[in-house]
Amino acid sequence: MATYRGRYDLQGLGTITPEMEHNLDIAYEICMSYRPEFPCEMCGRCCHQPNIVIRPEEVDRVSSAAGIPLYQFMTEYVYRTPDGRMLLAKTEPCAFLGKDNRCKIWKNRPSICDDFPYAVSMFMSRVYLALTNPDVDILDLIGYMDEEWPCTRVIRESIGRKVEERRGDVVPMD
Ligand code: SF4
Ligand code: SF4
Repeated sequence: MATYRGRYDLQGLGTITPEMEHNLDIAYEICMSYRPEFPCEMCGRCCHQPNIVIRPEEVDRVSSAAGIPLYQFMTEYVYRTPDGRMLLAKTEPCAFLGKDNRCKIWKNRPSICDDFPYAVSMFMSRVYLALTNPDVDILDLIGYMDEEWPCTRVIRESIGRKVEERRGDVVPMD
């Protein structure tokens, strides 16, 4: 599994070569282009899904913000996957989602919550695949994105154009 920028685990890509890194940089730029225009309507739907990653360096911050002692947080609120990652254990909905659909630890939420859904590994790896395989339609690759979510509707409307605009910058790979 390739880890890009020390943060994004890109399954199925193997070792990152310089050419791959160049093309991943383009995929990253496309993903991050959504940040300033990100259309979050605070519907809370993304807080109703599993697989919310919490990174080791975030554990103290998140547990403190939630007012949960560290030992209790690690034993009751964190699940370790067989490959060593940590996920929030209480999801669907997340234990920190309030009844008003707002995050109760907003300023200290795990970074994946801030990145979702446009700067997470799953989306970035698909943008990379579409960039480097002209025969592949990005909309087919992101079929997993729920069209009922306000943010993913906007992404689906614009991602094809963004990928096409950057294809000329991709370097060939062996
Ligand atoms: S699903 Fe999208 S629009 Fe709704 S709260 Fe999550 S990020 Fe915002
Ligand atoms: S930590 Fe907050 S933003 Fe992240 S999933 Fe839970 S409620 Fe949503």
